[in-house]
Amino acid sequence: MSTIFTQIVEGEIPARIVYEDETTVAFLDANPLSPGHTLVIPKDEYERLDDVPDDVATDLYATIHRMVPAVEDAVDADATTVAFNNGEAAGQEVPHVHCHIVPRFEDDDAGPIHAMFGQRPELDDDELDELADDIESRA
Ligand code: 5GP
Repeated sequence: MSTIFTQIVEGEIPARIVYEDETTVAFLDANPLSPGHTLVIPKDEYERLDDVPDDVATDLYATIHRMVPAVEDAVDADATTVAFNNGEAAGQEVPHVHCHIVPRFEDDDAGPIHAMFGQRPELDDDELDELADDIESRA
């Protein structure tokens, strides 16, 4: 069963497509968080960011880079929050990689991504060093 976004790519369900090239598509989110909320996806179906091949990741970033100013200009936004919900535990509902470009305004009161986390872990220097080493060894 293909994802709802693949159905958009295939033209099986309608969407307000605002940009398309060989590997990526951008279209308006059907339930926008703010006017101009746009999704950028690879045409091929990959569930998570680490499933995306390098060349497609390059194209995906190029489209994000192109669309951020286009979206900001279209709605006269002061800024944008640009984010991926990468995996179900992070709130990803559609299992097809998609980047949210959400226009932001000085008075929108939505806060930074940091506002999602009520409590933050207390990590001492040793724990931070260990984490940095571990992540570095896997990069
Ligand atoms: P997620 O929670 O997976 O990061 O975000 C999925 C996004 O896709 C949501 O913001 C939701 O509004 C949007 N969405 C879900 N179904 C459709 C659809 O059929 N068409 C469009 N244009 N957007 C959709």
